[in-house]
Amino acid sequence: MMILNSSTMKKTKNKLLKDAAFVNGKEVKGKKTFEVINPATLKPITVMADLSPKEIEKAIDSAYTAWRKWKDTPIERRSNILQTWYQLIVDHTDELAEIMTLESGKPLRESKIEVNYGGSFINWFAQEAYRTYGDQIPFPQQGKKILTIKQPVGVAAAITPWNFPLAMVTRKVAPALAAGCSVVLKPASQTPLTAIAIAHLAKQAGLPDGIFNVITSKDASGVGTLLSTSTKIRKLSFTGSTMVGKTLMEQAASTVKKISLELGGNAPFIVFDDADLDAAVKGAIAAKFRNTGQTCVAVNRFLVQESIFDAFAEKIKQKVQQLQVGNGLKKGVDVGPLINQSGLQKVIEHVEDAVEKGATILTGGKAMKGLFYEPTVLTDVPLTAKLAKEETFGPVVSLFRFKTEEEGIDLANHTEFGLAAYFYSENIKRCWRVAEALEAGMVGINEGAISTAVAPFGGIKESGLGREGSKYGIDEYMELKYLCFGL
Ligand code: NAP
Repeated sequence: MMILNSSTMKKTKNKLLKDAAFVNGKEVKGKKTFEVINPATLKPITVMADLSPKEIEKAIDSAYTAWRKWKDTPIERRSNILQTWYQLIVDHTDELAEIMTLESGKPLRESKIEVNYGGSFINWFAQEAYRTYGDQIPFPQQGKKILTIKQPVGVAAAITPWNFPLAMVTRKVAPALAAGCSVVLKPASQTPLTAIAIAHLAKQAGLPDGIFNVITSKDASGVGTLLSTSTKIRKLSFTGSTMVGKTLMEQAASTVKKISLELGGNAPFIVFDDADLDAAVKGAIAAKFRNTGQTCVAVNRFLVQESIFDAFAEKIKQKVQQLQVGNGLKKGVDVGPLINQSGLQKVIEHVEDAVEKGATILTGGKAMKGLFYEPTVLTDVPLTAKLAKEETFGPVVSLFRFKTEEEGIDLANHTEFGLAAYFYSENIKRCWRVAEALEAGMVGINEGAISTAVAPFGGIKESGLGREGSKYGIDEYMELKYLCFGL
């Protein structure tokens, strides 16, 4: 298919860019379609199939039929297919990164990093497939032997967001396939193209038809209901907003499905008076501006100790002023557009609300052309501001003051969310104390970039249930069975 390269306005060929869903190893065009829009230009990239409930039922059926063979496929074969799939993804980095930038707006450099990061989950779980060990449990009296084994759950449904169109997919699909499950995936309707592209590569890698299905639809709540209530689906893994996660949890209760939820965050980033300020600023930029601030682990609140507040504010302002905003396909761009109008509106509202309540703008603070927003630093943001309580999901640094360590920790934990938290301190004893006291699933200590396939990713409180990646990630797709042998 020909696509328009919006930075050069030249026509480029990208064979992985498709306009159809992918069910049972085949393209499904659907009777209706919807447009996939490039947020940098607001122009359509292509149209995509808007599948009917009947077509989605068919996808569930094919996943169910295919799973019955896949669960008994030798681990070595499953692992080899995953390994080949990983290699194909790496080999197609440029094509996949271009598609991702077109549909999500993220800078091309970040898209390439995401291909690598997303691919690493497939590489990791290709190895973890070999390590789904059970136990032998000593029986305390005579006459019995006890064993545990792990078995695939069955058909897994996955629902993913637009902010990481590749990595959020592979973080679910790779462990599911490694465990011996089949998958029905509904990617975000704003970014279905990367998911479909990698499904084609999975087929090329030898994955049997029906094991990985990508369904596309504009009716998110209808599809959500179908997937979460289907009796053929035994597992639901969702990444997205806390509000939708709660709805899906309620719906999945009707069939008591195994469920994983990776939901919203409101990450604090504490800078203590004994921090290395330059390292903290570097970490702050990494933890705030990736994907234009639209990541679940993006810092929402910078909590800075009083004695170093002004120095930190000045340093971060200078760094933020150097960030280049523009179409992600252009070289040198650091910050792309917001994903859509409502995303932009939320950022505008949060900044206006903070300023009305007494915050001061140090730099930025205005919407630009289209869906772009100036990288912004706000100082002395009051705790009553929306920025303090809700996920802003945009390129806005908001600075809050605190006096003591105890106050810093209390402020950091003062949220219903508990996904990521970060802090900077050179004092080892304080590092242990604070790391233990923070109510979060993941803590960056003198580090702003924490995501990796080898560590458990996930939240506590209203940020979710379960872990993705690491040696724990595959258990989300397996059931533990206990065998009791009478002798
Ligand atoms: P969202 O509105 O919840 O959408 C996420 C996915 O759910 C999309 O595929 C969406 O489909 C679908 N969806 C929407 N309403 C639904 C419903 N009623 N039933 C079933 N599915 C439904 O979230 P978002 O705004 O795209 O994503 C941003 C959120 O994801 C943020 O809160 C962010 O923190 C969170 N996130 C969390 C993690 C993590 O690992 N914890 C990672 C990334 C993002 P459509 O696109 O078709 O609407």
